Amino acid sequence: MSTEEDNRREHRKLVIEEFHLRRLQRQLHEFYSRICKEELEIVKKEYNKTEFDLRYLQSSAKLVGKVIRLLNSEKVSVEISNEEWIVGCHDKVDKEKLISGTRVILDKTTLTILGILPREVSPLVYNMIHKDSRDISYSALGGLSDQIRQLKECIELPLMNPEIFIRVGIKPPKGVLLYGPPGTGKTMLARAIASNIKVNFLQAAASSIIISYIGESARLIREMFNYARDHQPCIVFMDEIDAIGGRRLGEEGMTSDREIQRTLLELLNQLDGFDQLGKVKFIMATNRPDVLDPALLRPGRIDKKIEIPLPNEHSRLEILKIHAAGMAKYGEVDYEAVVKLAEGFNGADLRNMCTEAGMFAIRAERDYVIHEDFIMAVRKLNEGKKLETQASYSADFGKD
Ligand code: ADP
Repeated sequence: MSTEEDNRREHRKLVIEEFHLRRLQRQLHEFYSRICKEELEIVKKEYNKTEFDLRYLQSSAKLVGKVIRLLNSEKVSVEISNEEWIVGCHDKVDKEKLISGTRVILDKTTLTILGILPREVSPLVYNMIHKDSRDISYSALGGLSDQIRQLKECIELPLMNPEIFIRVGIKPPKGVLLYGPPGTGKTMLARAIASNIKVNFLQAAASSIIISYIGESARLIREMFNYARDHQPCIVFMDEIDAIGGRRLGEEGMTSDREIQRTLLELLNQLDGFDQLGKVKFIMATNRPDVLDPALLRPGRIDKKIEIPLPNEHSRLEILKIHAAGMAKYGEVDYEAVVKLAEGFNGADLRNMCTEAGMFAIRAERDYVIHEDFIMAVRKLNEGKKLETQASYSADFGKD
């Protein structure tokens, strides 16, 4: 009897629970459908707006103009095909961005500003954008740990944590001069710093700016800096800076000298226009620091100098090991003995030496290199170097 009673009670309980559960399910369903409806409404509105914008933009032919100035909250003076027009502006255009020189797109019939166009990137500057996506890690650089530390302090830290400098109340350098003989890793170092902190990287050889664009070099410098300003954070790397930043000559210089002077003045001007705590940093490199115009190295411009010397024996060992790491080897390679013979070699020579060693292995019909290949390679490069004239540079220059 009592078991029957228990069963009934249990059954009633179950029925009640089921009833509650169904009610909850219903409520949940209603809740979800309400939310979905609201979301659907939002999406529909967005879609209609985008569709409208798209149709609006596609509706008629467009014109491109340049803002002269914003006259009031409704009217803008714009230059279209060398003529000045007073035009209106579509509601969705951010008027605060309509500063002088901004490129805008206008409706051809109503002459209403429909949108803002990005600043034109000169094709010349476009070529300077470093598109090589391969990251260079600091570990690919041998013997430069002290220089890496200094560069991190001057470039990486202000870009990544400018507040540290604000707190302490000091201004970081705007840029750094890397100086030392060719092939010692200056370019690699600049690229490593940019790829390590994932910032934009503009690379140009100052000599090619001068040689290739006579009459245009100052404009090119301006365009470069504008690009950097628009694509912050950015590192601008200028190699062979002595081609532009060499000591200025007298007024009676040749046309090319005058061109260089104009370009240097533009460079100095542009450098002055950047904030030390801004998100654009400059790395300049040269193997002729002694000929640089002191104006370039004045405080507030490129006021930090880092020497990248020819690697000593210990650094050569580090560099050689980096370049030989990926090679198939057989038996022990006495790297110490190899670098002892490689006196005066720079990083690029050591890389070439590894390639040479590999060539000796291929000529001997082997799939691997052995110690003797390295020895033959270093001897071969030494022979070649004897014929070269040693590039001289002042090692005493401005050590910090
Ligand atoms: P620089 O700009 O000083 O003339 P680069 O950075 O262009 O020299 O170096 C040329 C090549 O030499 C690099 O691509 C790299 O293979 C090699 N190299 C130079 N220095 C080093 C180094 N310290 N560690 C490893 N490789 C180096």
